[in-house]
Amino acid sequence: MSTPGPPKLRLGISACLLGQEVRYNGGHKRDAFLTDTFGRYVEWVAVCPEVEVGMGTPRPPIRLERRGEETRLVMPSTGEDYTDAMRAWGQRRVAALAAMDLDGYVLKKDSPSCGMERVKVYPDREGAPSRDGRGMFAEALMERLPDLPVEEEGRLNDPLLRENFIARVFVHHRWREGEKAGWTRASLMRFHERHKLLLMARNQNGMRRLGRLLGDSGKGTPVTDLAAAYRQGLTEVLRRPATRRGHTNVLMHLAGYVSDALDPADRAELTETIERYRLGLVPLIVPLTLIRHHVRRQGVEYLQGQAYLEPHPYELMLLNHV
Ligand code: SF4
Repeated sequence: MSTPGPPKLRLGISACLLGQEVRYNGGHKRDAFLTDTFGRYVEWVAVCPEVEVGMGTPRPPIRLERRGEETRLVMPSTGEDYTDAMRAWGQRRVAALAAMDLDGYVLKKDSPSCGMERVKVYPDREGAPSRDGRGMFAEALMERLPDLPVEEEGRLNDPLLRENFIARVFVHHRWREGEKAGWTRASLMRFHERHKLLLMARNQNGMRRLGRLLGDSGKGTPVTDLAAAYRQGLTEVLRRPATRRGHTNVLMHLAGYVSDALDPADRAELTETIERYRLGLVPLIVPLTLIRHHVRRQGVEYLQGQAYLEPHPYELMLLNHV
């Protein structure tokens, strides 16, 4: 019997990243990793805020401008102000997206509509723009869906950020599955057990806090409140990628489960491989593959379901670069 493949995920995306010719100049910003590689696992929901709000293509460029305390979305060449239209449309569009079971969102960087961070905001009068804005649609999206993994395509060129984003997307998917089935204390605990090492690699204290929340400190809390608090903590812990030190700790922890049953040569090989990873001489996939091999051979049941051992499809090769 063949094993089931990875789930098909549904993610939102800035339409120009898929190659749709929706940019102000009639062009696109197709991203090959997103369309050809990650795209094999994803059903994309493409959104172009500027086209959907009625600006047309091609169109004169728009930008964020600071007016006193406020940030406005304006088209300098015509003087038109799109702030209210974009805000009203954005609220409706984000409400529709919230009902679509998304597991993540990829935004186009630097855009006054889609940019997630460090978008240029022009001053009232003459002067250089500051780099502290967020696209107006991105703001509505992130406010309405604070637990949704969101990244920019530019940041996804960084192997660490890319790996972390995609790991978060798969965690989000499993969280939604649990939510659909209806959380119980037992299923929340099973979810935590499955993700323990993934959390440990990122933030050991955060992992323990989440465990305590489901244990004694959460006693008497209604399950829905417990799930909401857990989810918030989960989002916080996962937001930051694991460091090499964090991964090394988890690898040593994992080695503790399999070492006793190994002969001296295999044990030495495992220790040496983890040390090579710690020193930056080999990528994470090397010690992890070795550990996975021992876990499978020894049938260590507790570890076999750990999300850490296979956080995303092997074929994405994300662990080959961290
Ligand atoms: S960045 Fe956003 S608004 Fe601009 S073209 Fe791409 S999808 Fe449309």
